[in-house]
Amino acid sequence: VLTGAGLFKSYGMARALAGVDIDVTAGESLAVMGPSGSGKSTLLHCLAGIERPDSGEVLLDGKRIDQLREPARSELRRTAFGFVFQSGQLLPELPADENVALPLMLGGTARRAAVEQARQWFGPLGLQGMEDRRPGQLSGGQAQRVAIARALVGRPKVIFADEPTGALDQATGMEVIHLLTEVSRSHGAALVVVTHDANVARWCDRTVHVRDGRLAADRTAAEAGTDAKAGYRR
Ligand code: ATP
Ligand code: MG
Repeated sequence: VLTGAGLFKSYGMARALAGVDIDVTAGESLAVMGPSGSGKSTLLHCLAGIERPDSGEVLLDGKRIDQLREPARSELRRTAFGFVFQSGQLLPELPADENVALPLMLGGTARRAAVEQARQWFGPLGLQGMEDRRPGQLSGGQAQRVAIARALVGRPKVIFADEPTGALDQATGMEVIHLLTEVSRSHGAALVVVTHDANVARWCDRTVHVRDGRLAADRTAAEAGTDAKAGYRR
């Protein structure tokens, strides 16, 4: 569903991506691991149309998307992609259901219909009864599940998550990544998860490792699982 080919990106003199080829298919979850500063977020931003690569191509369903200009670019992000970040992505003044409804309302759905659709995600994500709470009244794990609902509500083709468990304790993080991989898979969305945590990567179908802006390896979950058990040292 989504392909990046020969991606290069520099910031001034600093090269963040040095020729990355990457591919995710519908319903597949891909973990992106690697040291701090290796280019993981830059890769995610280039794939998601948040930043434009200096060279290379990004294709969604075989069509180039890296050359799109505004407003087509934002429109594509809104309609085809969902995003989950580390934390702090919910609007504090809105109740949880309206936070989830936001992408639909931005797309022109009337508020009442959008909120009604949004509320249907609360049960499957274990958030029943939380619809009217404001983000400040939710635990970190609950807030991340609301963010997952918001990423999914527009039925995206790809969900991008940058350190989605980074602000959570281990047990809560595992619950959140489990839900995220499960709901993505069951809705046929591809999932790209940037993470430092080998235990998070273990929930994904496949793991790639970024080193100095390049992919070091592309392995199956089974192989990566061996690393996770070994404590991921090299
Ligand atoms: P972390 O695990 O710490 O989040 P990362 O792997 O996500 O790291 P990136 O954020 O992709 O790393 O950064 C890759 C390189 O590009 C780093 O050297 C970083 O300093 C640089 N960089 C990233 N964004 C910018 C920017 N907007 N302006 C200048 N340099 C940037
Ligand atoms: Mg990063």
